[in-house]
Amino acid sequence: MPLRERLTDVSRARHWDQELPLTYAYTLGKSGQKFVEGLKKGLIYASECTNCSTRFLPPKAYCTKCFHRIEKYVEVPKEGKIAGLTHSGKQTYCYVTFPRIKGGLVHRLLKEANIGSNVIPAFAPPKERKGTIADLMGFVPK
Ligand SMILES: [Zn+2]
Repeated sequence: MPLRERLTDVSRARHWDQELPLTYAYTLGKSGQKFVEGLKKGLIYASECTNCSTRFLPPKAYCTKCFHRIEKYVEVPKEGKIAGLTHSGKQTYCYVTFPRIKGGLVHRLLKEANIGSNVIPAFAPPKERKGTIADLMGFVPK
């Protein structure tokens, strides 16, 4: 069905005050499941392509470089480096990368640090972990 109405005047924008009765289920997939299982143990897993040796964080099920299926997981090094920072309200978020791993993680920066600083992950106490991203509380400077 073609779009018959086009908004050309923002003062005519409308909204809907009702709730949409939609539910959804989001599955983590195999690599996402392995990732959160690692967090519950206090580990950060990356996936490693056995064909080209590229490592991915967050873990991927297929290699984006050679399209090989990935079924190998490795722990990331204990220490990462802040590649980027941003602030939202009073919270600072950092993008942390690890040596020889493609990608990284965005999470809370729990103590002051700068871009280029070495950081380590801070996990929730073992009894409080639930197998979610919240098991990783954030990163702290080393
Ligand atoms: Zn590959």
